[in-house]
Amino acid sequence: MDCIFCKIIAGEIPAVKVLDEDLVLAFMDINPSSRGHLLVVPKQHVENIFEISEDDLAAVTSAVKRCAQAVKEALKAGGVTILQLNGKASDQIVPHFHVHIMPRWENDGLSVSQWEMKPGNMEEIKEIARKVQEHLS
Ligand code: 5GP
Ligand code: ZN
Repeated sequence: MDCIFCKIIAGEIPAVKVLDEDLVLAFMDINPSSRGHLLVVPKQHVENIFEISEDDLAAVTSAVKRCAQAVKEALKAGGVTILQLNGKASDQIVPHFHVHIMPRWENDGLSVSQWEMKPGNMEEIKEIARKVQEHLS
């Protein structure tokens, strides 16, 4: 399989690793959006949130929490943005599940979390919530 993150996991291409566990690897992003930008991935190849097992997701989530804490302390960041994309429509580029950890500072100019705060249509919001609940049950 031609997956860049699987190659990193297999040690076939280099990466700057920060955490290596049974189920999970964390390494530095080579195109950092902010100083200390990290990626956390399951070692098992899955593309996205729809495919990942509960066990792998739990292991990734645990690693994300510990890495976020560690990078925040290491760089004295003011905060941390956690981002995870699924599918081309959401701008996912590498089709191997990964969580971005981006240390943040006041006024750092990074705009991954700034959508227009325009009130939604409450009827539509309630209708969508109802449809989501149908799919949850
Ligand atoms: P996404 O798929 O969520 O849009 O982002 C993929 C991320 O993987 C990008 O931030 C990109 O910089 C990072 N990336 C792509 N190829 C490599 C690589 O070979 N090594 C590392 N360390 N990061 C990579
Ligand atoms: Zn992969």
